[in-house]
Amino acid sequence: MKNLLVLGGGTAGTMVANKLRDRLADDAWEITVVDQDDAHHYQPGYLFVPFGHYTPEQLVRPRRTLLKEGIHFVLGDVSRVTADDNTVTLVGGVELHYDYLVIATGTTPRPDQTPGMLGREWRRSIFDFYTLEGAQALARALESFDHGQLVVHIAEMPIKCPVAPLEFTFLADDWLRTHGLRDRVEMVYVTPLDAAFTQPVAASILGDMLVERKVRLEADFMVERVDDERKVLVSYDGREVPFDLLVTIPVNMGADFVARSRLGDELNYVPVDKHTLLSVAHDNIFALGDASNAPASKAGSVAHFAVEVFVDNFLQHVAGRPMTGSFDGHANCFVEAGDHKALLIDFNYDTQPLPGKYPLPVVGPMSLLKATRANHLGKLAFRHIYWNVLLPGHPVPLPSHMSMVGKHPADPEA
Ligand SMILES: Cc1cc2nc3c(=O)[nH]c(=O)nc-3n(C[C@H](O)[C@H](O)[C@H](O)COP(=O)(O)OP(=O)(O)OC[C@H]3O[C@@H](n4cnc5c(N)ncnc54)[C@H](O)[C@@H]3O)c2cc1C
Repeated sequence: MKNLLVLGGGTAGTMVANKLRDRLADDAWEITVVDQDDAHHYQPGYLFVPFGHYTPEQLVRPRRTLLKEGIHFVLGDVSRVTADDNTVTLVGGVELHYDYLVIATGTTPRPDQTPGMLGREWRRSIFDFYTLEGAQALARALESFDHGQLVVHIAEMPIKCPVAPLEFTFLADDWLRTHGLRDRVEMVYVTPLDAAFTQPVAASILGDMLVERKVRLEADFMVERVDDERKVLVSYDGREVPFDLLVTIPVNMGADFVARSRLGDELNYVPVDKHTLLSVAHDNIFALGDASNAPASKAGSVAHFAVEVFVDNFLQHVAGRPMTGSFDGHANCFVEAGDHKALLIDFNYDTQPLPGKYPLPVVGPMSLLKATRANHLGKLAFRHIYWNVLLPGHPVPLPSHMSMVGKHPADPEA
């Protein structure tokens, strides 16, 4: 028997184990998924929790129930990978042997990385919504917030779902308007980027949306510390942004065991070939989803498109043949805009988000880089697709590679 060990039973780990269980013979391959807990979270749902939508029951399911029959599930915290020995050690000492290893342990918000963030204001006036507990605490804080400066802040890139802080800002603006509070609240968007977003056309459109909503953009802000006595964000170049309510996206980092195992870069992401996701250092280790250093967005959609390419590649690789599939960095993200509308962006390593229609030219029904109700309904429907189609590994009628069909490269205003 050969052993495929998948570290992390989140979005990527669950999809890859389920897809490969259908493709690898039961009597030749054992597949084991390891995770530190048995609660699979639908993380895109966290965005809506501060505004009173979704109960935890709608966002969390036991991991075991999401894995196909014939996949072993081990509950354990990974302590170390000893690549020379093909062994994974769990906290407590249990050792697991592998022939092939998939690292899919994602990325985690690390407020401990910014001095002062975890001080006395944490979860009093400083909140995150990248964890379910944080999003729930923020919901309670918003209930009593009725005036002052609301600051939405990104500590450092990359972060998972890089549009989520913008989405939170647009939804907060909408929520404050609905509650008759918008005139009493100043909003500031603080980012280490030089614009509202990374890619020029999208940055311009999303930046205009901040202006329309009277949200001040504080760009190029590299946070040095949080002064929790004065409730001020302080940057390395000495700028200060005061807050009454700070909604921060802390530094995101890969798992600590990646560093302990000497498999990672300075943020604990595993260096890989960006087209095959094979570790640059080890021929039997892949990193999928947010855990790798591939220069794609860290997003569930990216994990999904990458897994589609990976599965055939993996079968070729274990058979000793060259991998013929090439992942193009395809990402596809809905961006909530408030007022029950959303934009959609679709891009890859080489092509920035462009306006147009998706997935079909002319008819869509989704619109790229344009706020529509159809996009918003698509975003809401995605939760059902996630649980019932993506995680079980069922085919999705969308190409895994980005397509230029329906896009208008020459006319950013279309
Ligand atoms: C607020 C928010 C909104 C988002 N919105 C969107 C969206 O609209 N669209 C989209 O495509 N993506 C979105 N995302 C991003 C998406 O959720 C992630 O990119 C996706 O879940 C990544 O999958 P993954 O498998 O790499 O990591 P995860 O799904 O995070 O899984 C990693 C797993 O590894 C486990 N693990 C970590 N360390 C260890 C260890 N030491 N031992 C054992 N197990 C370990 C964890 O418990 C976890 O189960 C959003 C994320 C957030 C936070």
